[in-house]
Order: sequence, then C-alpha cells, then structure tokens
Amino acid sequence: MSSRSPLQASAYAEYNDLSLFDLAHQYSFDYLRKVFDRNVFPTEEALADLAAFDEKMPATGKAAKDVISFLHQHGSEATVATLGGRYFGFVTGGALPVGLAAKSLGTFWDQNTPLQVLSPLSAKLESVCQAWLREILHLPDNVVAGFVSGSFAANFCGLAAARYRLLMNQQWDISKKGFRNAPPLRVVIGKNAHSTILKALALLGFGTEQFEWIDTDPQGAILPDRLPHLDATCLLVLQAGEVNSGAFDKFPELVPKARQAGAWVHVDGAFGLWAAACDPLNHLTRGMHQANSWAVDAHKTLNTPYDNGIALCADEEALVSALHMSGSYIILGHERDGMFYTPEMSRRARVIELWATLKYLGKSGISELVYGLHLRAKQFADLFAQAEGFEVVNDVVFNQVLVQCASDELTIKVMQRVQELRECWVGGSMWRQRKVIRISVCSWATTEEDVRRSAASFERARREVRG
Ligand SMILES: *Cc1c(COP(=O)(O)O)cnc(C)c1O
Repeated sequence: MSSRSPLQASAYAEYNDLSLFDLAHQYSFDYLRKVFDRNVFPTEEALADLAAFDEKMPATGKAAKDVISFLHQHGSEATVATLGGRYFGFVTGGALPVGLAAKSLGTFWDQNTPLQVLSPLSAKLESVCQAWLREILHLPDNVVAGFVSGSFAANFCGLAAARYRLLMNQQWDISKKGFRNAPPLRVVIGKNAHSTILKALALLGFGTEQFEWIDTDPQGAILPDRLPHLDATCLLVLQAGEVNSGAFDKFPELVPKARQAGAWVHVDGAFGLWAAACDPLNHLTRGMHQANSWAVDAHKTLNTPYDNGIALCADEEALVSALHMSGSYIILGHERDGMFYTPEMSRRARVIELWATLKYLGKSGISELVYGLHLRAKQFADLFAQAEGFEVVNDVVFNQVLVQCASDELTIKVMQRVQELRECWVGGSMWRQRKVIRISVCSWATTEEDVRRSAASFERARREVRG
C-alpha cells in the first residue's frame, strides 16, 4: 500500500533506479569528450535549433528522461566551448576538472549555506578557504571572506562595507538612518574602472556625476600624481587588472597615502588579484594588501567553474554590519554563518569547488597556472609582432593582449571573420579611441599549439578580409 502521490511515486522511482542520473552523466561525458576539439562558438545550425525551446508553458508534465534528452539534444551544441583552450573572449576562465567534479558531487548534496546549522560542511569549507586565501594572496590575518556569485557582487560587498564605515566614522549609522541626509562621501576613482564598480556604486546611491575621476596613463592605470587631496570621507577605488589591458594601479604610491588620510581603499582584482599568488608576477600587486577591501573571482584566473567570486574585507564589523540580516527564526552558529558576509540569504555551496581547486593545485600549482596564462599571452604578442598587419597596443603585463589592424574598419572585419571561422573566439573593445581586438588568456587548457592555431586564424582572417 502506498500513500505516495503520482508525483512522489515517479520522483522516488528516479532516485531509486538512478538511470535518469546515468543518462545525464552519459550526456555530460559525451560533452567533455568533444568540447576541447569542437568549434568554439556554436554553428549557425545549432543556433537555429534553439528555436526548439520556443514552446508554450506545458499544461502537463513530461517524463524526466525526456526532459533531460531534450535539453541535451537542443542545448549542448548551442553552448559556447569556454571549457576548451581557444576561448579568449571577455575575461572568462576555463574550469579545472577537479572543480567540475567537486561541483558535480556537491550538486547531489544540494547544500544551502546561510547558516552553519544549515550546512556545517559549507561553513567549515568557507572558514578553511578564507584562511587559505589570506595566505596565498598575502592578506592580513583579520581579513574575512564572503563567497558570492562573482566580482560584481564582491565589489558590491566591499563598497557597502566602505559606505558603512566611512559614515559610521562620522557618527552616522546608515543601517538605521538611511542614506538621505547622510554626511557627504567622496568617491575617488580611476577613469578606467570596470562597469560593475559603477553599477555597484549606483546601487549604493553614488552617481557617476558625483565621482572625482582620476586620469589614467596609456595603460589605464591611475596616474599617482593626479590623486586629489584625500580625507576621511573618501572612498578610493583601485584595480588589479584593467579589463582591457590588464594594467595594475600603482598600489605602493596610492594606498599608504589614502590610508594616512583616513580614506577607505577598495581594490577590484577580479582576475588580477591572483598575481599575488604567483611569484614571478607578484610585483604587480605589491602594496595592495594594505587596502581595506578586495574583490576577486575564482571562476576567472583560478579556473573554478562558474559562479565563484570572493569578497574580502579587513574590517569584519563594517562588512557584517553593511550586509546584516536578522529574523526571529535565525539560529546563529558558533563558528561561521556565511550569510553575514554576503548580500544573499540562500546560496548554493560554491565553496565546494573553490576548496577542491585550491587543494588540488596547492600554492605551487596556482603559481604555475597563473604564470602559464601570462606566458601564453606573451606568446600571442610575439606572434603578432612577427605577423604582417597586426599591432599589439598594450604592455602585456598579465594575461591581456590588445591587438589592432591598420584601420578601425579592418580591425572589426578581421575580428568578425575570426569569430566566423570558429577556431577561437575573441571580442572587441575600444582602446584610446581606437577599435581593438581583445584577447584574454584565462584558461588552464590553453596550450602553445592553441595559441599558434588561434594566431594563424587571425592571419587567415586578415588575408581573406583584404581579399
Ligand atoms: C569580470 C570583471 C568584473 C565582474 O566580475 P563578474 O565575476 O563578472 O561579476 C569586475 N571587474 C573586473 C576588472 C572584471 O574583469
């Protein structure tokens, strides 16, 4: 005799015989076997086939296996092969296998992470990763970490903590009194700040017209001698890794000055902060550890799967107060309740993949991974220097390469042709009033051969476009 509803009966059956999960794994394994060699961007045919998803909300359900098969049939070919070694668009990391495998195991645990009592395991891994991150990034012992979706969220957390502290220093508790009528704060920011910083500041009540913009050098780094006179109402935003050129602000010249004035320093280090964990490159982040807050992505340079960002803050009270949440039903743990360090309440346990990736690589592996991205970027720059008709326009200090052709028109045409050829994928940007093709080497998987093949595709594209 069964008291199960039809829905319960069929769902229990799937968990009992597991063939549904077998099927999903078969499809995943098929995908992994092909993804490193296939076309990087979906074919026109695969894109057209996405129309299969355009259906009315079904009135009745379907068997779970049919749903999974449909998804595989129409979805997998339409993915962008960012997992492979020839995706250089935006700043998009690949994923080391250990991270995907850990994510897959963690998927079945389906942990929710706001409170220790909801997932002691996640709380433990978050504490461990917090300590490891301090060590490998050379941050002070009082730094706390919030595990968020990405650097937008991490920037938001750091800037919210800054707003809280700078106002509290003026006896204004923003959580109680709100932002209206609050004493004014000054946002001091480089002209090359990332758009997610601007969005996070807008959500916190700071508009771009109120900012004090600082001029930047030809690489996009703040010119230290243009820093305005700072005081204790200032929020100074710096970056480790300009999103086009990869340039780093000159922390030793900027951070001590700001701290002496009582300002808060936030560093957007979405992909560049990892230079600190790489011996041959850590001169780039020298002096950044004296800042107050930092944002970094594990899903970019560290190559964990998406989504995996980290907010770091040396002022725990400010971060927790800015993001604080309470309710009569909340039970606090004695160690770590993750939600105090993030804007969300419910969150998946993304720390599982982060922990697995850090443990797998160790300090030496992280250093090697980061340095490898730099070497492949230099290789691109060298190949363009030898090729006809290409000019690299940035100093390749990290993983970013900006390249252009003789005219903006030609640059765009070559980029479009490279995209059509699908040997690799690159996007465009503007750099000092000119169109550029932006190459971002972000994947562990990129080999020297991948770089040669991709550079050859650029040359072929240029030949074809010039007819
Ligand atoms: C990618 C990036 C961000 C945004 O990070 P997400 O993980 O996409 O939210 C912020 N700043 C810089 C410099 C970036 O490269």
